[in-house]
Amino acid sequence: MRQVIEEIDRRGCKFVDLKVVDLYGRWRHVTLHRESFSEEIFEKGVGFDASNLGYASVTKSDMILIPDARTLFFEKIENEEIASFICDVYSSENFKPSEHDPRFIFKKAIEYISPIADDIKLSIEYEFHVFSRVRYSIQPNLIFLETDSPEGFWNSSQSGEYFVGRKKGYHREIPFDNFMHLRNAIVSELENVGVSVKYHHHEVGSSQLEIETNFESALKAADWVMLVKHVVRKIAKQSGFLVTFMPKPLYNEAGNGMHIHQYMIKDGKNIFSGDELHGLSKTCHQYMTGLLKHCPAVMAFSNPTTNSYRRLVPGFEAPTNASFGLANRNAAVRIPGYVKDHSEKRIEFRTIDASCNPYLAISAMILAGVDGIKKKMKAEESSELSLPIDLSKACDALEEDREFLKEIFPDSLIQHWVQTKREEYRYISSIPHPAEYDLYFDV
Ligand code: GLN
Ligand code: MG
Ligand code: MG
Ligand code: MG
Repeated sequence: MRQVIEEIDRRGCKFVDLKVVDLYGRWRHVTLHRESFSEEIFEKGVGFDASNLGYASVTKSDMILIPDARTLFFEKIENEEIASFICDVYSSENFKPSEHDPRFIFKKAIEYISPIADDIKLSIEYEFHVFSRVRYSIQPNLIFLETDSPEGFWNSSQSGEYFVGRKKGYHREIPFDNFMHLRNAIVSELENVGVSVKYHHHEVGSSQLEIETNFESALKAADWVMLVKHVVRKIAKQSGFLVTFMPKPLYNEAGNGMHIHQYMIKDGKNIFSGDELHGLSKTCHQYMTGLLKHCPAVMAFSNPTTNSYRRLVPGFEAPTNASFGLANRNAAVRIPGYVKDHSEKRIEFRTIDASCNPYLAISAMILAGVDGIKKKMKAEESSELSLPIDLSKACDALEEDREFLKEIFPDSLIQHWVQTKREEYRYISSIPHPAEYDLYFDV
């Protein structure tokens, strides 16, 4: 702890920022002046009102944030060098980790795999849209959505400019690619805060971009999800842009996924590599089967918004089947065709999107796979499963199939989650949709 504080002082930081994930995957933060920050905080923590973060009842809302010293990173906010930590949540009653803290749940999930593997390595792809302007309204007599981007959209009238065109953006080159400088700036900042980036590129949609991070240990990779979204938004805002990771911000355009490449290691070896189909091990096939079998329930966490299901439709390289396939982008699990090296053998979970809480979603994903390994599931067990078509169906699936989460996810959390998600579903369903005027105005 002493070293950490020395490092903060060496950098001349006047402020120390404590970040904590809320139940729905947004970071919240509280900032301490360096004078109020001491080694004690790593033991005693800082009190906060957890009811605002979604995972505590209002009557037991006093909780404590304890910074995880290993997560220290530095960033500039308006020329002020800030030291930041990611925190864990403790109960103020017994000073134990809060059962509902998503990061605690994640750590338990990783511990749970220990008889099978030492760790699971994750490499994550982030897709997002960049807008110069967003206007929307849901007033009763004024329902509209307007977005603008320097690259224009398929139905906008463009003249005298280069523009990407509909579904033509994948790896697009300058000058059609208007955002190389923005991605360079984002990736430079990601490297500054310690996130290791594989590459960045333009994605299929107009003003749709992608950044991919390198393989990293599970907890760090999950922390990176938070950090990547933070940095992408921050740097885009500095350039006057708005970023959204919404799974399907625009009708009839490509949506945003957050594909997760993964393999397990034991004694330093990749245990997903083997001699079975597609060069994968039996363990990997069992993991894949577990993941697919429980996929509908997992999706209540990995695809937890009503918008998530607008993405999972044919025609946009988003998964529509609960199946696995070699180089198949319609499948929930893809086995990348280009990986020949044994140490790099992996599977890619494609269903998940960035509207999730990464700690809860990735925990659910891993537990589903591990259930497959524990029960030695055979591929046939996951065949003919269809994916839920909306958030309410995903909630049904989670309620019916929650046994595999039991040891790690408290029942009260699942109940609370399903209740909140059903409310969101009902809220969205209750709003007359503009497209309903198209279909029904004249009935
Ligand atoms: N955007 C697609 C999705 O929603 C993925 C497309 C790609 O990565 N080539 O998952
Ligand atoms: Mg990619
Ligand atoms: Mg992509
Ligand atoms: Mg991918």
